[in-house]
Amino acid sequence: MYQRHRSVLPDWLAVYYADPIELTHGEGRHVWDAEGNKYLDFFGGILTTMTAHALPEVTKAVSEQAGRIIHSSTLYLNRPMVDLAERIAKLSGIPDARVFFTTSGTEANDTALLLATAYRRSNQILAMRNSYHGRSFTAVGITGNKGWSPTSLSPLQTLYVHGGVRSRGPYADLDDAGFIAACVADLEDLLGHVRPPAALIAEPIQGVGGFTAPPDGLYAAFREVLQERGILWIADEVQTGWGRTGDNFWGWQAHGQNGPPDMLTFAKGIGNGMSIGGVVARAEVMNCLDSNSISTFGGTQITMAAGLANLTYLLEHDLQGNARRVGGLLIERLRAVAAQLPGVREVRGRGLMIGIELVRPGTDQADPDAAAAVLEAAREGGLLIGKGGGHNTSVLRIAPPLSLTVAEAEEGAAILERALRSTQV
Ligand code: PMP
Repeated sequence: MYQRHRSVLPDWLAVYYADPIELTHGEGRHVWDAEGNKYLDFFGGILTTMTAHALPEVTKAVSEQAGRIIHSSTLYLNRPMVDLAERIAKLSGIPDARVFFTTSGTEANDTALLLATAYRRSNQILAMRNSYHGRSFTAVGITGNKGWSPTSLSPLQTLYVHGGVRSRGPYADLDDAGFIAACVADLEDLLGHVRPPAALIAEPIQGVGGFTAPPDGLYAAFREVLQERGILWIADEVQTGWGRTGDNFWGWQAHGQNGPPDMLTFAKGIGNGMSIGGVVARAEVMNCLDSNSISTFGGTQITMAAGLANLTYLLEHDLQGNARRVGGLLIERLRAVAAQLPGVREVRGRGLMIGIELVRPGTDQADPDAAAAVLEAAREGGLLIGKGGGHNTSVLRIAPPLSLTVAEAEEGAAILERALRSTQV
């Protein structure tokens, strides 16, 4: 299978593991491979599966809708699209919100950039260092993580701002208030030297960049500076949305003191595997385009049916609360293990978005080899995790479906502890 994969797909299409896994089915928080091995899935939650694998409520909604109609989502009235848009608009916290559905996070960010640049008549974008926003021509142009940005020939002019990574960089030794003040001063200084940018786009917690979070309030402080100059704030909630961080439904809410963002983008798990992305924007911004725009597949009845069933399940079962409780226990448990391991620099995170940063023991140097070894050892133990973190990929990423139980969290933590110890981290 791997040979076939390599002969027909791009060389840069990365797969995990020396002996890659072909997944065949899943249930709850578990998946199975083609050889019949069962794994606890501590990563799929941030990719496709927000709530649970093969969630019966979503499966039923999708199969019923498949038997009814799937047609162009934007040329004809589409009840499930309006229903889901109304719910998301209300949840977004953005006043007078309009929702445009796409098929991916990349396309959602592209749309947000189209809106921001048209609204402000500027092609300058502020983005964060170490950011990841997708894989289209424009999205790679605002991705501050070289390993995921394969060209520098962007149609946008991007200015990278300090602040996305709290624990490294020139302001790492400052306390939270000092860090925020330094980042704000840096932003103000930058804005004094350039033409007015259209927007700042930022992940409230960087995902691919290694689950790094700035202190709460950083983007609120940025917002004040931006608002004075009419610059928009776009929160990329592709990883942080829908209650994953436990404390908040959206990542931006940890930075909401000066109001909600002008736009937010979402994608990934909201369809529990069906392709949904989207932009929520204030009506004034959303409506700034002076010609039509449609998306053939964004918002099709089948993806919207999945999104509605999934969101209903998420809210009715308080999976945000579950992420807070179970994620809190998991972070505590992993911190206790990490305290005994010189190769773990930090266990960080919020809710069910947890990063474990590995370094060469006794140094502050990122250790991508250790991260790769732990990934393999965890798989041997029956646990799938992810990795990320700048170009060094030395951060283990844990993001299970939000329905994770306490017993499963304990089981996964035990496997991870064995994997960390066996690789002598
Ligand atoms: N923004 C963020 C924060 C992401 O993590 C990702 C995907 N890793 C994207 C955008 C792009 O989403 P997609 O892969 O659905 O295009």
